[in-house]
Amino acid sequence: MNSADSESLARRLLAAGYVEDSLERADVAILNTCVVRQASEDRVYSKLHELREWKTPERTIALTGCLVGKEGDGLRQRFPHLDAVVPIGDYEPFVAKLEGRYDYSLGEALPHAGRTGISHFVRVIQGCDHNCTFCIVPRVRGREKHVAIDAVVAECRQAIADGAREVVLLGQNVDDYHDPAGGGGLAALVREVERIPGLKRLRFMTSHPQDLEPELLEAMASSDVVCRELQLPVQSGDDTVLKRMARGYQTRHYRAIVDSARRLMPDIGLVTDVIVGFPGESEAAYMNTRALVEELQFDVVHIAMYSPRPGTFAATRMEDDVPRDEKLRRLNDLLALSREIAARKTSRWVGRDVEVLVEGRDELNRPYGRIRQGKRAIVMRSGEVRPGELLNLRVVQATAGQLLGLPAA
Ligand code: SF4
Repeated sequence: MNSADSESLARRLLAAGYVEDSLERADVAILNTCVVRQASEDRVYSKLHELREWKTPERTIALTGCLVGKEGDGLRQRFPHLDAVVPIGDYEPFVAKLEGRYDYSLGEALPHAGRTGISHFVRVIQGCDHNCTFCIVPRVRGREKHVAIDAVVAECRQAIADGAREVVLLGQNVDDYHDPAGGGGLAALVREVERIPGLKRLRFMTSHPQDLEPELLEAMASSDVVCRELQLPVQSGDDTVLKRMARGYQTRHYRAIVDSARRLMPDIGLVTDVIVGFPGESEAAYMNTRALVEELQFDVVHIAMYSPRPGTFAATRMEDDVPRDEKLRRLNDLLALSREIAARKTSRWVGRDVEVLVEGRDELNRPYGRIRQGKRAIVMRSGEVRPGELLNLRVVQATAGQLLGLPAA
């Protein structure tokens, strides 16, 4: 979501005639911030401290992103060298001020092309109507606002005309999407977007087990364009913890979704998020999470140690009672387990042919991209391959994180 916001602001600035440059040469530095965990927030403060050295009367420092929703204008009192605090998505007044301050007379606006990569993020919902007790997002990003299907399709068409080959539909809870003009939900949106000529891949994230509808899985299974990857955070494998998190589902329901998805798409890539050390998470509750991770054999598990976020229900009404050392032990234990599972699952791709959408070249100058199930793949010994091409690859080697292969005949 933050990457999509950065892209959106960068595109607006490019259109106004600004260019990206190194920090040493730039006149304006903009921090796009994340506060989902305390560590992310601390990184912003440390960056702001670092920028004190860089700041001169001629230079501008601006800050946008979730920290604005959390701290607002108080940030300018705390950091007097900060010139502007820009609410998410409300970029026009900021750009107008910049234009008044720096008149480069660059003439015509630069085209968008070149900015749009192979993969283009489209925000279809802003904010979230859920109230998970650990989560600060509804406070900093507000209630849900949905973008009309027509507007999403228009943005996707433009991105494809500018060179994108893949579109990623984004929402904090993308399964809750509905067309404000009375059209359908996410499945209907997916069916509209996948028909756009020139689109090779369509992804969406992040799903929510309470809101994911069976039609969405059917839309995925019946499409050659929609990727077979589901980002479905479970957060805990223990029903009492899920209840305290106010997630609105039980593990039984989560398992049923995974079963249906795998029945329709046996090779689907499954990605989940887990929080360890949530208030009241006993050893037995943690072991239930561990057992669920083992049972469902996720391809990727993003694991976070619980940290109280100010203003959330959990921070104000629940005791952070799992000691840090214990949280760390659970984190490392689950990391080791999920890596072992990922390595085993990835090795099953060896010998198979996969389709890779080439995104660029890695540090060894090898083309890389992703397969439809979401795994990163490296092309060894390729000829001339351009970003945006779909390539058939025979997988010859696999690590937990990526596949390596040779162009298939
Ligand atoms: S659904 Fe996601 S974004 Fe919304 S409150 Fe829950 S964790 Fe936060």
